[in-house]
Amino acid sequence: MADHGFDLLISARWMIPVENDGEILEDYSVAINNGEIISLLNPTESAAVNAEKRVRLDHHVLMPGLVNLHGHSAMTLLRGLADDKALMDWLQNHIWPAEAAHVADDFVFDGALLAMAEMIRGGTTTINDMYFYHGAMARAGLASGMRTFVGATVLEFPTNYAQNADEYLSRALEERREFLGEELVTFTLAPHAPYTVSDDTFRKVVTLAEEQDMLIHCHIHETAGEVEDARREQHQRPLARLKALGLLSPRLIAAHMVHLDKDEIELAARHGVSVAHNPTSNMKLASGIAPVPALLAAGVNVGIGTDGAASNNKLDMLAELRQAALLAKVGTLDPTAVPAATALKMATLGGARALGIGDKVGSIRAGKDADLIAIDLEAVETSPAFDPISHVVYAAGREQVSHVWVKGRPLMRARTLTTLDTGALLENAARWRERILGKGKTA
Ligand SMILES: [Zn+2]
Repeated sequence: MADHGFDLLISARWMIPVENDGEILEDYSVAINNGEIISLLNPTESAAVNAEKRVRLDHHVLMPGLVNLHGHSAMTLLRGLADDKALMDWLQNHIWPAEAAHVADDFVFDGALLAMAEMIRGGTTTINDMYFYHGAMARAGLASGMRTFVGATVLEFPTNYAQNADEYLSRALEERREFLGEELVTFTLAPHAPYTVSDDTFRKVVTLAEEQDMLIHCHIHETAGEVEDARREQHQRPLARLKALGLLSPRLIAAHMVHLDKDEIELAARHGVSVAHNPTSNMKLASGIAPVPALLAAGVNVGIGTDGAASNNKLDMLAELRQAALLAKVGTLDPTAVPAATALKMATLGGARALGIGDKVGSIRAGKDADLIAIDLEAVETSPAFDPISHVVYAAGREQVSHVWVKGRPLMRARTLTTLDTGALLENAARWRERILGKGKTA
């Protein structure tokens, strides 16, 4: 302990540590030094210690920050541009032309900052992203203070960012070099999907991931059509192909995994694959219902993501964990499927474990980093409060998130962002609107 006691002491009416399912501590405090949780103190203990700074949250829940396990942050700039379309119409006539015209460093930086402001305001402390122009994404992460996983997309076809798979990889590794010393920024390899990446490229990705000790982030079995096409054209389902290519391992974060048979669930469990479940995106694009209860029962680690703003359209993790709890019940016709505490654990510790940082964040425990959020339950919508876990999952809105810390650093205090300037973000977004509509100056 330092001479002055602690840097920061946060006391809250309720605390949800997420270490033990359903556990709630009342009137406890978290003592923090240098961004690390030193101890959890009861009221008597906390009154007796010195702290440089004290934060009292008298009608709040203090809990681990939410981990958004699958997103495309910069797509906030395309939010609401085209909705309720068939997937191919949406992509070919709306999203791809807009991306071809505009996606570059400035688009990614501005879009990612906008996304991060939204995510912080909703209690998200970690984002696992996948897009292009990774240096811009990493700089946005550093500017916002969020824990940022920058997914280096790999495709076989050209975009603004690269011409072919080798160039996607080499350019990403070059951009990664600048950020290797940054504790809060981590690059991952993100082969887009089995239907957009060749066997040869998947093999290169696996080799590179092992050499460089990197995670792999990939869209897998999102739609029935993708599984059916592969079965018809390659005579095997995508997951079997990925297994043969050596992709299935604890390094892999498989986004979606909506269409799985019993053997594939077993396969994911056996290989330690983590799943990023995106309930709202799966509903909006009519992809289907991921078999989350069966995955959990098989022992698969499952986290929760929002997917991009063009296919959700909110980057609202509280809404997402409510949807995860509800969709599991509809999918199984079982109201006991994915109870509130399970949804909360997926959105915190589940995401952290998938990212290989389960020993560092995702729950409140001595020795972990202080990635914490507070949610104010003193509202019409959440009174009276019998069970704070139930309220966080089923009743509270993201506007009730009051405070956010990453590694002990405040990113939001009493609803005010400390690292980002909301006014500037709004002005920038308005400028992008003009540019995308073709009214602004071409860059
Ligand atoms: Zn996605």
